[in-house]
Amino acid sequence: MNNDREIINQLTKTLLMDYKGVYYVNAITNKYICCSVDEASQTLHIIQSGDDFFKDLAEDVDKVIFEADRHIFKQDMTRTNFLLQLEKGTAKNIEYRYILDGTPVYYTLRLLKGPCKGNEYFILGVKNIDDEVRHRQQEQAAPDDMPQEISQDAIGDKLAQGKITPIPEERKIILDRLFEALSAVSDGSYIFVCDVRHDYSRWSKATVAHFNIPSEYMYCADKVWSEKLHPDDKVTFMNAMKDVFSGRTSSLNMQYRAMRFDGQYDLCTCHGIILRDANGNCDYFCGSAKNHSVHGRIDQLTGLRNQYGFFEDIQWALDNKKTGRIMLVGISKFSEINEIYGYDFGNKILQNFGRYIFKHTGYKGAVYRLDGTKFAIITRCDLQELKEMYAELRAAFRAGSSVEGREIILDLNASVINVDNFNVDYRTVYSCLNFAYAESKQRKQGDLVEFCNNISDENKHRIERFHVIRASIMKEYSGFYLLYQPVVDSRTEKLIGAEALLRWRNDEYGVVPPDDFIPLLEKDPLFPDLGEWIIKTALLDAKKILEKCPDFTVNVNLSYTQLEKADFVDMVERVLNETNYPPNHLCFEITERCRLLDMELLKNISVNLRGKGVRIALDDFGTGFSSIGIVKSLPFDYIKIDRSFVRSIEIDGKERELIKSFVGLALTFDAQVCVEGIETAGMRDILQSYNVHSFQGYYYAKPLEFKDFLSWKDNYISD
Ligand code: C2E
Ligand code: MG
Ligand code: MG
Repeated sequence: MNNDREIINQLTKTLLMDYKGVYYVNAITNKYICCSVDEASQTLHIIQSGDDFFKDLAEDVDKVIFEADRHIFKQDMTRTNFLLQLEKGTAKNIEYRYILDGTPVYYTLRLLKGPCKGNEYFILGVKNIDDEVRHRQQEQAAPDDMPQEISQDAIGDKLAQGKITPIPEERKIILDRLFEALSAVSDGSYIFVCDVRHDYSRWSKATVAHFNIPSEYMYCADKVWSEKLHPDDKVTFMNAMKDVFSGRTSSLNMQYRAMRFDGQYDLCTCHGIILRDANGNCDYFCGSAKNHSVHGRIDQLTGLRNQYGFFEDIQWALDNKKTGRIMLVGISKFSEINEIYGYDFGNKILQNFGRYIFKHTGYKGAVYRLDGTKFAIITRCDLQELKEMYAELRAAFRAGSSVEGREIILDLNASVINVDNFNVDYRTVYSCLNFAYAESKQRKQGDLVEFCNNISDENKHRIERFHVIRASIMKEYSGFYLLYQPVVDSRTEKLIGAEALLRWRNDEYGVVPPDDFIPLLEKDPLFPDLGEWIIKTALLDAKKILEKCPDFTVNVNLSYTQLEKADFVDMVERVLNETNYPPNHLCFEITERCRLLDMELLKNISVNLRGKGVRIALDDFGTGFSSIGIVKSLPFDYIKIDRSFVRSIEIDGKERELIKSFVGLALTFDAQVCVEGIETAGMRDILQSYNVHSFQGYYYAKPLEFKDFLSWKDNYISD
């Protein structure tokens, strides 16, 4: 080789103007020299000269060549293979990537001069073509270049032109198997498997339906998808796909917005990997896409089916007219456990609890973890079996269970509902189940409460009626209306206000009083909408009364669940503005059930509303456990004494004393007293001698429809 140094020097000077490196390889001895101006070659420790070009190359491949391209050298660059290819003239240009500073950079290895008679050397040139390749890729991925409409014809053309070859049956079987394996472990994610060689892929049925794509099986799916993507995400997506299909990357990790069937965009996160064949070539590309607008069905903490799975299963049972029972079991005061022991420990308890229920329910039903600390069981067990199951569960957790060496005692609440061929949806069932659960928690000290389905209507299912009432909220509140019951000044008996009382009616069920549906609706997510409708309707009606009766105040009942909504005060302000109603002629009635809310929150609401001039009354005073406590903690303008305390006032001296003390108490806290349930002149006479501010009751009027109230008022005032 030394003899040839001079010639090589001359040649190299010329070649290095164009190439970063030049190899002179003796085709007989395999000895070689590498002349390089590429800094990279130093970084990469490329051997500058050696005894066996092919051996050294094979050794270097794993160190310097990008993983996905190593097979090119491992397969093709054996001496025999390489020389054979050179003879055939097929190895004149090899594209591959070096890893430079951890990044793949495109290079080409070109045969500049082949071994020929009288000259046993062949010369290879190494050139950096990264800019060139990237430019080419970008052009290919540019949106203008994308087909505007991908039809089966376009794919057919490609097949016809031989750009893609039809997938053989045996490859399709493998594709399906891969797909099924992946589907088995997908929790609510869309699955895809693509046969890269034939650019043929299979997609979850859910994907087809949700994104309205042509078929579960597709050729050239990336083109179909690119059409579905948000314009801002297309280029990134196509570039990522090019990287995957060219082997530039071995995995895909990206987010994009895809247009679903109704034209809206859903955010999806896609993870995919390339599976290579034995030779290292891209064989399959498979993975999953998570749609962030669609929920999974498995609870991550306990591994049980979650709330969405629960709803889905109830709906399925209803649709298929299956009968059975649903039990809701929850843990009391769990926030205290979280506060004392920390969130992680709380999670362990929930896992432990879930596992226990799962184990003890066994084959008898399906177990779910719902929101927070509630679990559910859908089962065919009868009520007696469920009662026993719950008693056992309760006893076990009351006795204390060991979690990480700590003895933890849990108190439970539970409700059960009988699902029996109802014409309702899962939301209605869930509201009823929650209503019974609240009964268990608030009134029954955790005993299992069965949702009673025949309380007031012998023939019709209470649950079905509730379903229709609930649905009315979504039908522009059809069937709902307000009655007004006058409130009069206790001394002058002049009209000073009215309480708005909600009713619902339809042809099938007639008029339904509020006690039959409000407690059920209170826990329903639709209730705040109805609450707003009540306030707005009452204010619009009251405005008409105010024109003739300037001292008039309308009383609107609130449920504690309305107050829970963070935007309650804003909503009230908005409705007052929209109706242009004077706030100091509105009074909200709340009950002592509000003690279930956080006192600070309640104080904030109360102070805020009173600051705007709105009055607040405590309704049904005396009926709850903590009426006095709440009067102490919150400022009220009025206290309404429940009618149950005055029913026998004419004959019962103790009742009279009790009323006197209630009045004294109210005055201590600067509140005025309104007595409800005045039914006779005698009751009025007695109560007039106490320091009561106003009266309400059948003696003056029953709750009246608005038009009747207007004429009642006219007659009454003219008296
Ligand atoms: P409440 O707020 O204590 O309403 C007074 C109830 O007593 C009304 O029953 C009324 O018709 C009844 N009443 C009034 N005077 C007399 C009387 O002299 N004798 C007798 N026996 N009863 C009398 P109603 O209309 O059935 O309402 C029941 C409850 O439903 C209300 O009790 C209130 O808690 C709730 N409610 C009514 N409308 C609404 C509403 O719009 N929102 C909310 N959250 N609750 C409402
Ligand atoms: Mg009231
Ligand atoms: Mg009341």
